[in-house]
Amino acid sequence: MSEFSANHRLENKVAIVTGSTSGIGMGIARRLAAQGAHVVINGLGDAAIIEQERAAIAQEFSIRCLYSPANMLSGTEIAGMVQLAIDELGGCDILVNNAGIQHVAPIDEFPDEKWQAIIAINLTAAFHSIKAAIPSMKARGWGRIVNIASAHALVASPYKSAYVAAKHGIAGLTKTVALEVAAEAITVNAICPGYVWTPLVEKQIPDTMAARGLTKEQVIHDVLLEAQPTKQFVTVDQTAAFVAFLCSDEAASITGAIMPIDGGWTAH
Ligand code: NAD
Repeated sequence: MSEFSANHRLENKVAIVTGSTSGIGMGIARRLAAQGAHVVINGLGDAAIIEQERAAIAQEFSIRCLYSPANMLSGTEIAGMVQLAIDELGGCDILVNNAGIQHVAPIDEFPDEKWQAIIAINLTAAFHSIKAAIPSMKARGWGRIVNIASAHALVASPYKSAYVAAKHGIAGLTKTVALEVAAEAITVNAICPGYVWTPLVEKQIPDTMAARGLTKEQVIHDVLLEAQPTKQFVTVDQTAAFVAFLCSDEAASITGAIMPIDGGWTAH
Protein backbone atom coordinates (compact mmCIF):
# COMPACT_ATOMS: atom_id res chain seq x y z
CA MET A 1 0.00 0.00 0.00
CA SER A 2 1.23 3.50 -0.81
CA GLU A 3 2.71 5.56 2.02
CA PHE A 4 0.18 8.22 1.04
CA SER A 5 -2.89 6.08 1.57
CA ALA A 6 -3.53 7.49 5.04
CA ASN A 7 -3.95 10.95 3.54
CA HIS A 8 -7.59 11.44 2.59
CA ARG A 9 -7.46 15.07 1.56
CA LEU A 10 -9.46 14.43 -1.62
CA GLU A 11 -12.21 12.36 -0.01
CA ASN A 12 -15.54 12.59 -1.90
CA LYS A 13 -13.94 14.33 -4.88
CA VAL A 14 -14.46 12.78 -8.32
CA ALA A 15 -11.42 12.67 -10.61
CA ILE A 16 -11.08 11.77 -14.28
CA VAL A 17 -7.59 10.84 -15.49
CA THR A 18 -7.25 10.32 -19.24
CA GLY A 19 -4.70 7.82 -20.49
CA SER A 20 -4.47 6.11 -17.11
CA THR A 21 -4.04 2.52 -18.27
CA SER A 22 -0.27 3.03 -18.40
CA GLY A 23 2.69 5.09 -17.23
CA ILE A 24 2.21 8.52 -15.67
CA GLY A 25 -1.60 8.46 -15.89
CA MET A 26 -1.84 5.21 -13.97
CA GLY A 27 0.43 6.66 -11.28
CA ILE A 28 -1.75 9.78 -11.04
CA ALA A 29 -5.00 7.76 -10.86
CA ARG A 30 -3.58 5.58 -8.08
CA ARG A 31 -2.27 8.61 -6.18
CA LEU A 32 -5.61 10.49 -6.32
CA ALA A 33 -7.41 7.30 -5.24
CA ALA A 34 -4.94 6.93 -2.37
CA GLN A 35 -6.00 10.39 -1.23
CA GLY A 36 -9.65 9.34 -1.20
CA ALA A 37 -10.95 10.54 -4.59
CA HIS A 38 -13.29 8.40 -6.66
CA VAL A 39 -11.62 7.92 -10.03
CA VAL A 40 -12.58 7.38 -13.66
CA ILE A 41 -9.70 5.72 -15.45
CA ASN A 42 -9.38 5.77 -19.24
CA GLY A 43 -7.07 4.55 -21.94
CA LEU A 44 -6.34 1.86 -24.47
CA GLY A 45 -5.23 -1.69 -23.75
CA ASP A 46 -6.27 -5.24 -23.02
CA ALA A 47 -9.79 -5.23 -21.53
CA ALA A 48 -9.07 -7.96 -18.97
CA ILE A 49 -5.90 -6.25 -17.69
CA ILE A 50 -7.69 -2.88 -17.46
CA GLU A 51 -10.55 -4.49 -15.50
CA GLN A 52 -8.02 -6.08 -13.13
CA GLU A 53 -6.37 -2.67 -12.55
CA ARG A 54 -9.74 -0.92 -12.09
CA ALA A 55 -10.88 -3.46 -9.50
CA ALA A 56 -7.49 -3.33 -7.72
CA ILE A 57 -7.62 0.48 -7.37
CA ALA A 58 -11.19 0.38 -6.02
CA GLN A 59 -10.32 -2.33 -3.52
CA GLU A 60 -6.92 -1.07 -2.39
CA PHE A 61 -8.08 2.47 -1.67
CA SER A 62 -11.76 1.81 -0.77
CA ILE A 63 -13.05 4.24 -3.39
CA ARG A 64 -15.21 3.86 -6.49
CA CYS A 65 -13.22 3.39 -9.67
CA LEU A 66 -14.85 3.25 -13.11
CA TYR A 67 -13.33 2.71 -16.53
CA SER A 68 -14.23 4.79 -19.58
CA PRO A 69 -13.07 3.37 -22.92
CA ALA A 70 -13.40 6.81 -24.59
CA ASN A 71 -11.03 7.24 -27.50
CA MET A 72 -9.31 10.62 -27.21
CA LEU A 73 -9.65 10.98 -30.99
CA SER A 74 -13.43 11.46 -30.55
CA GLY A 75 -15.02 14.56 -29.01
CA THR A 76 -18.29 12.66 -28.59
CA GLU A 77 -16.63 9.82 -26.67
CA ILE A 78 -14.74 12.32 -24.50
CA ALA A 79 -18.01 14.06 -23.59
CA GLY A 80 -19.40 10.57 -22.79
CA MET A 81 -16.49 9.96 -20.39
CA VAL A 82 -17.32 13.15 -18.47
CA GLN A 83 -21.02 12.22 -18.49
CA LEU A 84 -20.14 8.82 -16.99
CA ALA A 85 -18.50 10.58 -14.03
CA ILE A 86 -21.54 12.85 -13.62
CA ASP A 87 -24.13 10.05 -13.93
CA GLU A 88 -22.36 7.42 -11.83
CA LEU A 89 -20.24 9.42 -9.38
CA GLY A 90 -22.20 12.67 -9.09
CA GLY A 91 -19.95 15.10 -10.99
CA CYS A 92 -16.41 15.94 -12.00
CA ASP A 93 -14.18 17.86 -9.56
CA ILE A 94 -10.74 16.98 -10.91
CA LEU A 95 -9.76 16.52 -14.54
CA VAL A 96 -6.27 15.37 -15.47
CA ASN A 97 -5.58 15.50 -19.21
CA ASN A 98 -2.77 13.03 -19.53
CA ALA A 99 -3.36 10.82 -22.60
CA GLY A 100 -0.64 11.35 -25.14
CA ILE A 101 1.28 9.82 -27.99
CA GLN A 102 4.58 10.62 -29.69
CA HIS A 103 6.17 10.21 -33.11
CA VAL A 104 9.75 11.07 -33.97
CA ALA A 105 10.69 11.96 -37.58
CA PRO A 106 12.25 14.81 -39.53
CA ILE A 107 9.69 17.38 -40.71
CA ASP A 108 10.01 16.52 -44.41
CA GLU A 109 9.27 12.85 -43.66
CA PHE A 110 6.68 13.40 -40.90
CA PRO A 111 3.57 11.32 -41.76
CA ASP A 112 0.41 13.46 -42.11
CA GLU A 113 -1.67 10.98 -40.13
CA LYS A 114 0.79 11.05 -37.21
CA TRP A 115 0.59 14.86 -37.13
CA GLN A 116 -3.22 14.69 -37.07
CA ALA A 117 -3.32 12.03 -34.33
CA ILE A 118 -0.78 13.79 -32.09
CA ILE A 119 -2.60 17.13 -32.31
CA ALA A 120 -5.95 15.36 -31.70
CA ILE A 121 -4.89 13.25 -28.70
CA ASN A 122 -2.33 15.58 -27.07
CA LEU A 123 -4.21 18.86 -27.58
CA THR A 124 -7.76 18.74 -28.99
CA ALA A 125 -8.84 16.02 -26.54
CA ALA A 126 -8.10 18.42 -23.66
CA PHE A 127 -10.32 21.05 -25.28
CA HIS A 128 -13.19 18.55 -25.44
CA SER A 129 -12.75 17.22 -21.90
CA ILE A 130 -12.39 20.69 -20.34
CA LYS A 131 -15.44 21.95 -22.25
CA ALA A 132 -17.49 19.00 -20.98
CA ALA A 133 -16.22 19.11 -17.37
CA ILE A 134 -16.32 22.85 -16.61
CA PRO A 135 -20.14 23.08 -16.13
CA SER A 136 -19.99 20.42 -13.39
CA MET A 137 -17.09 22.20 -11.66
CA LYS A 138 -18.94 25.53 -11.84
CA ALA A 139 -22.07 23.90 -10.38
CA ARG A 140 -20.04 22.43 -7.50
CA GLY A 141 -18.12 25.67 -6.90
CA TRP A 142 -14.71 23.96 -6.97
CA GLY A 143 -12.51 22.42 -9.61
CA ARG A 144 -9.00 21.36 -10.52
CA ILE A 145 -7.74 20.84 -14.05
CA VAL A 146 -4.18 19.60 -14.51
CA ASN A 147 -2.86 19.20 -18.03
CA ILE A 148 0.15 16.93 -18.38
CA ALA A 149 2.18 18.90 -20.87
CA SER A 150 5.94 18.36 -21.16
CA ALA A 151 9.24 20.20 -21.07
CA HIS A 152 8.39 20.31 -24.78
CA ALA A 153 5.69 22.85 -23.90
CA LEU A 154 8.56 25.23 -23.05
CA VAL A 155 11.43 24.24 -25.34
CA ALA A 156 11.78 22.22 -28.55
CA SER A 157 13.80 19.23 -29.68
CA PRO A 158 14.35 18.33 -33.33
CA TYR A 159 12.22 15.63 -35.01
CA LYS A 160 9.24 16.14 -32.66
CA SER A 161 7.33 18.83 -34.59
CA ALA A 162 3.80 17.60 -33.87
CA TYR A 163 4.46 16.80 -30.19
CA VAL A 164 6.18 20.13 -29.51
CA ALA A 165 3.40 22.01 -31.33
CA ALA A 166 0.69 20.18 -29.38
CA LYS A 167 2.44 20.70 -26.03
CA HIS A 168 3.03 24.41 -26.68
CA GLY A 169 -0.66 24.53 -27.64
CA ILE A 170 -1.79 22.99 -24.38
CA ALA A 171 0.17 25.66 -22.49
CA GLY A 172 -1.90 28.31 -24.27
CA LEU A 173 -5.16 26.44 -23.63
CA THR A 174 -4.24 26.13 -19.93
CA LYS A 175 -3.62 29.86 -19.49
CA THR A 176 -6.77 30.85 -21.40
CA VAL A 177 -9.15 28.61 -19.46
CA ALA A 178 -7.48 29.57 -16.17
CA LEU A 179 -8.39 33.20 -16.80
CA GLU A 180 -11.96 32.31 -17.77
CA VAL A 181 -12.71 30.38 -14.56
CA ALA A 182 -10.36 32.04 -12.04
CA ALA A 183 -13.18 33.64 -10.04
CA GLU A 184 -15.04 30.34 -9.62
CA ALA A 185 -12.58 28.42 -7.42
CA ILE A 186 -11.45 26.37 -10.40
CA THR A 187 -7.71 26.22 -11.09
CA VAL A 188 -6.18 25.21 -14.40
CA ASN A 189 -2.48 24.35 -14.61
CA ALA A 190 -0.05 22.46 -16.77
CA ILE A 191 2.93 20.49 -15.54
CA CYS A 192 5.92 19.93 -17.76
CA PRO A 193 7.78 16.72 -17.03
CA GLY A 194 11.21 16.05 -18.42
CA TYR A 195 11.91 12.45 -19.36
CA VAL A 196 9.96 9.97 -17.25
CA TRP A 197 10.76 6.30 -17.87
CA THR A 198 7.43 4.97 -19.25
CA PRO A 199 6.35 2.97 -22.33
CA LEU A 200 6.01 6.28 -24.26
CA VAL A 201 9.72 7.03 -23.84
CA GLU A 202 10.79 3.43 -24.37
CA LYS A 203 8.84 3.25 -27.67
CA GLN A 204 10.50 6.34 -29.19
CA ILE A 205 14.02 4.99 -28.72
CA PRO A 206 14.10 2.94 -31.97
CA ASP A 207 12.87 5.95 -34.03
CA THR A 208 15.42 8.26 -32.41
CA MET A 209 18.13 5.64 -33.07
CA ALA A 210 17.11 5.65 -36.75
CA ALA A 211 16.63 9.45 -37.06
CA ARG A 212 20.01 10.22 -35.49
CA GLY A 213 21.97 7.05 -36.32
CA LEU A 214 22.69 6.19 -32.67
CA THR A 215 22.71 3.08 -30.45
CA LYS A 216 20.10 2.59 -27.70
CA GLU A 217 22.63 3.51 -24.99
CA GLN A 218 23.62 6.66 -26.89
CA VAL A 219 19.97 7.70 -27.18
CA ILE A 220 19.40 7.22 -23.42
CA HIS A 221 22.58 9.00 -22.28
CA ASP A 222 23.39 11.44 -25.08
CA VAL A 223 19.87 12.47 -26.17
CA LEU A 224 17.38 11.87 -23.33
CA LEU A 225 19.46 12.38 -20.18
CA GLU A 226 21.73 14.85 -21.99
CA ALA A 227 18.89 17.37 -21.59
CA GLN A 228 18.43 16.69 -17.88
CA PRO A 229 21.15 18.15 -15.61
CA THR A 230 20.21 15.75 -12.77
CA LYS A 231 21.08 12.84 -15.15
CA GLN A 232 18.10 11.01 -13.67
CA PHE A 233 14.73 10.18 -15.18
CA VAL A 234 11.84 11.96 -13.45
CA THR A 235 9.74 9.30 -11.70
CA VAL A 236 6.03 8.54 -12.09
CA ASP A 237 5.60 8.93 -8.30
CA GLN A 238 7.17 12.41 -8.28
CA THR A 239 4.88 13.46 -11.12
CA ALA A 240 1.78 12.04 -9.43
CA ALA A 241 2.65 13.77 -6.14
CA PHE A 242 2.94 17.10 -7.97
CA VAL A 243 -0.51 16.62 -9.51
CA ALA A 244 -2.01 15.66 -6.14
CA PHE A 245 -0.62 18.84 -4.59
CA LEU A 246 -2.15 20.96 -7.37
CA CYS A 247 -5.50 19.26 -6.63
CA SER A 248 -5.34 20.19 -2.94
CA ASP A 249 -6.96 23.20 -1.29
CA GLU A 250 -3.46 24.50 -0.42
CA ALA A 251 -2.85 25.03 -4.15
CA ALA A 252 -5.89 27.30 -4.64
CA SER A 253 -3.70 30.28 -5.63
CA ILE A 254 -1.77 28.39 -8.29
CA THR A 255 -3.57 28.82 -11.60
CA GLY A 256 -2.65 29.48 -15.20
CA ALA A 257 0.84 28.21 -14.38
CA ILE A 258 3.02 26.14 -16.70
CA MET A 259 5.38 24.35 -14.34
CA PRO A 260 8.45 22.27 -15.09
CA ILE A 261 9.28 19.04 -13.25
CA ASP A 262 12.26 18.28 -15.41
CA GLY A 263 15.48 17.84 -13.43
CA GLY A 264 16.64 21.30 -14.51
CA TRP A 265 16.24 20.75 -18.27
CA THR A 266 14.49 24.05 -19.04
CA ALA A 267 16.87 26.01 -16.77
CA HIS A 268 19.40 25.83 -19.63
P1 NAD B 1 2.21 5.98 -21.93
O1 NAD B 1 2.38 5.59 -23.35
O2 NAD B 1 2.77 5.10 -20.86
O3 NAD B 1 0.66 6.21 -21.61
C1 NAD B 1 -0.16 6.91 -22.49
C2 NAD B 1 -1.60 6.69 -22.11
O4 NAD B 1 -2.42 7.35 -23.08
C3 NAD B 1 -2.00 5.21 -22.15
O5 NAD B 1 -2.89 4.92 -21.10
C4 NAD B 1 -2.71 5.08 -23.49
O6 NAD B 1 -3.66 4.02 -23.53
C5 NAD B 1 -3.39 6.44 -23.56
N1 NAD B 1 -3.82 6.76 -24.91
C6 NAD B 1 -3.06 6.85 -26.03
N2 NAD B 1 -3.84 7.09 -27.10
C7 NAD B 1 -5.12 7.16 -26.63
C8 NAD B 1 -6.38 7.37 -27.24
N3 NAD B 1 -6.51 7.56 -28.58
N4 NAD B 1 -7.49 7.38 -26.45
C9 NAD B 1 -7.38 7.17 -25.12
N5 NAD B 1 -6.22 6.95 -24.49
C10 NAD B 1 -5.10 6.96 -25.24
O7 NAD B 1 2.81 7.46 -21.82
P2 NAD B 1 3.34 8.34 -20.59
O8 NAD B 1 4.80 8.47 -20.74
O9 NAD B 1 2.76 7.86 -19.31
O10 NAD B 1 2.74 9.76 -21.01
C11 NAD B 1 1.59 10.32 -20.40
C12 NAD B 1 1.57 11.81 -20.68
O11 NAD B 1 2.75 12.42 -20.15
C13 NAD B 1 1.56 12.16 -22.17
O12 NAD B 1 0.72 13.26 -22.41
C14 NAD B 1 3.01 12.53 -22.45
O13 NAD B 1 3.13 13.42 -23.54
C15 NAD B 1 3.37 13.19 -21.14
N6 NAD B 1 4.81 13.23 -20.90
C16 NAD B 1 5.54 12.09 -20.81
C17 NAD B 1 6.89 12.18 -20.59
C18 NAD B 1 7.75 10.97 -20.47
O14 NAD B 1 8.98 11.14 -20.47
N7 NAD B 1 7.21 9.78 -20.35
C19 NAD B 1 7.50 13.42 -20.44
C20 NAD B 1 6.73 14.57 -20.54
C21 NAD B 1 5.37 14.46 -20.76
